[in-house]
Amino acid sequence: MKRGSPHSERAGEAMLDAGTRAALYRALRELSCSRCGGRIREGELFTREAEPASGLPLVRICRGCAPFSKGGGLLDALLAPGGGEESRPTAAPVDAREKVLSRLGPALEASRRRR
Ligand SMILES: [Zn+2]
Repeated sequence: MKRGSPHSERAGEAMLDAGTRAALYRALRELSCSRCGGRIREGELFTREAEPASGLPLVRICRGCAPFSKGGGLLDALLAPGGGEESRPTAAPVDAREKVLSRLGPALEASRRRR
């Protein structure tokens, strides 16, 4: 293992259950939660909290201590300030079409099966 290699990498943002946004990090090697001391395994996501003394985000918090929901691309896009895609005119028609298809789909299949 190389010394000085990063312990973690940024992995987007998450919404905490408390309703606040938090930066997500992915552990690049096994780490421990600063709050409960639990293991954060390699590849697992965790959040950080600013250390009161320094204000730097040095406090590692595992998912068990700070439950968060990974919003995925859509939420990220919606929440990202100045994401450049503020209006999506196709969103509503696609949604409506999918609703129609999901309603018609089973019926169509059933009628096909009957023949
Ligand atoms: Zn923890």
